[in-house]
Amino acid sequence: MSKKLISIVVPCYNEEPTLGILYEELNKVTAAMAEYDFEYVFINDGSKDKTLDILKEMAAKDGKVKYMSFSRNFGKEAALLAGLKNAKGDLVATMDADMQDPPALLPEMVAYVESGEYDNAATRRVSRKGEPIIRSFFARMFYRVMRRITDIEIMDGARDYRVMNRPMVDSIIALQEYNRFSKGIFSWVGFETKWIEFENVERSAGETKWSFWKLFRYSIEGMVSFSDAPINIASWLGLIMTGVSVIALLFLFLRALIFGDPVAGWPSLACIMTFIAGIQLFVMGMMGQYVSKTYMEVKNRPHYIVKDSNVEDTELIG
Ligand code: UDP
Ligand code: MG
Repeated sequence: MSKKLISIVVPCYNEEPTLGILYEELNKVTAAMAEYDFEYVFINDGSKDKTLDILKEMAAKDGKVKYMSFSRNFGKEAALLAGLKNAKGDLVATMDADMQDPPALLPEMVAYVESGEYDNAATRRVSRKGEPIIRSFFARMFYRVMRRITDIEIMDGARDYRVMNRPMVDSIIALQEYNRFSKGIFSWVGFETKWIEFENVERSAGETKWSFWKLFRYSIEGMVSFSDAPINIASWLGLIMTGVSVIALLFLFLRALIFGDPVAGWPSLACIMTFIAGIQLFVMGMMGQYVSKTYMEVKNRPHYIVKDSNVEDTELIG
């Protein structure tokens, strides 16, 4: 009987300093899992350093190294999608290049999926040690808000480090949306998930690609992609404001009847006007978020363009 194939998908953006370390570590881990065949699918997401050269070098020496190289930086979500689409494995793992997703967890994750009880094994970090405090704070807030405003469950500290079986991978690929928020997509497709917890590991080398603002924008993306609560705020606020103004009007009317009508209170009027104008702009901006996302979806552009690849029958535009 031929062995099952496990694909390990790794998105790489300027990962020159970490790739060697990851490759060594992966080899160590996979050598101990002789009952499987492996392929490593590296996606070079338009790196500006020598990432692609290193990948080509590895591929020349090692037949299980597959690489795909984008025509520019399309973002980690696009890289993940390209990897999942072109991975041939019976099981597929997704993992960061910087060793923050410890390869040593692989055997355990694979065992859970192979047991048949679970369709995928996912990981979450239970600590955020080594991370700026305010980033951790906002991350926690994000997960709390997401839990309230969406139907899907997104675990605090969930990583994009997973081992999935073929049916789950195929379902994820079938979701063709342009604005991809993987943490939501993984949860949306359902299936049985085994959660494995681990302590945060700091990047082995190189630096994070996420600035605070990039993370902030990503979190807005997550909310808009998986919840319509923000866009409903408009209706609720509108309703409440109407109620309040009717009551205020009645009050003013009665007061004028009883006490006459001294012209007073224009400063408070000015305050109310700016307040309402502010809310209107805020809500319009929120709706704009949905409109702009819809615009991108309607254009139906591909998620990525591959310029160079050693994967057989690569889907070059996907
Ligand atoms: N990454 C990518 N494209 C990007 C940004 C990041 O493919 O535009 C990859 C990166 O090479 C790494 C993973 O996504 O393998 C996670 O990035 P990073 O470690 O910088 O994020 P962090 O762990 O700090 O959240
Ligand atoms: Mg990282």
